[in-house]
Amino acid sequence: MANKPEKSPKRTSHPSFLLFLFFLTLLLSFFATYLYRTFSSIQEHNRKELQLEMKKIPKDIKKKLTKTKSSIKRRIPILIYHYVEIVTDKNDTIRQSMNIQPAILEKQITTLQDAGYTFITPSNIGKMLNGKKEIPKKAVILSFDDGYRDFYTDVLPILKRKQAKAIAYIVPGKLNQINYLFSWQLHEIYGSGLVEIGAHTVHHMNLKGISYMTAKYEIEESKTMLENMLYIPILSFAYPYGAFDSQAILLVKEAGFTTAVSSISGNDVSESNRYLLYRIHPGYRTGKELISALEKEYKP
Ligand SMILES: [Zn+2]
Repeated sequence: MANKPEKSPKRTSHPSFLLFLFFLTLLLSFFATYLYRTFSSIQEHNRKELQLEMKKIPKDIKKKLTKTKSSIKRRIPILIYHYVEIVTDKNDTIRQSMNIQPAILEKQITTLQDAGYTFITPSNIGKMLNGKKEIPKKAVILSFDDGYRDFYTDVLPILKRKQAKAIAYIVPGKLNQINYLFSWQLHEIYGSGLVEIGAHTVHHMNLKGISYMTAKYEIEESKTMLENMLYIPILSFAYPYGAFDSQAILLVKEAGFTTAVSSISGNDVSESNRYLLYRIHPGYRTGKELISALEKEYKP
């Protein structure tokens, strides 16, 4: 009988505890959905980056290329990288295939330095083509696309250790988002004095075949946003997915960029391909294998 009064307060607290559980579950499921959506959008982005990559020059543009004769012609390999990190998720095969282990990048840099290569950046090519700068006989460019956070955590320490220059093509609309660089990291990267900052559209937009106004905005605004952040002229551009058309080339030129890189394989640089510079996927090659991939003849 004496126990009876004790039981009643428990009964009254029961519904509020259930309500608390209900809201907690609701909150957790919202959080889980958010995480799932974010990660699946990153995977979708990576899948597109791989599948849509434009590997051939459109016919109409190729015709113009063969017609233009330029006096300055050089062999300057531009290496293309996306992720450089230790991918922990073994099921994320897409990220794995776009990734180079940091130790491999370091070995590749050592290979290039031992072979007598000098690291330059695309703005140097712009100046060279304008007749305003000489470029060392053996020059190479390390280019990193998209501005992933691993550029700060994994790439920058290697560049500092090896005193190697590189370019990072940034998508300013994605800064501070999950997987991408924070603005303060970008400032620090530029402040290292080793990294040129290039633009890669505002939203990582596929520029091929889109409306004039959208393409113009994506190209010009990515330049302006980065210039307003860093107080420096942004001179170099990379086409997302390596995809471009005549309209994109013209807009990049009009925006004031001095070069643009594509994903077409090759190593020749001249005035005729200044706005669709070729690049080479280094993969896991090091040593002689890497050097022969850089120096071989390509027919883009
Ligand atoms: Zn990209």
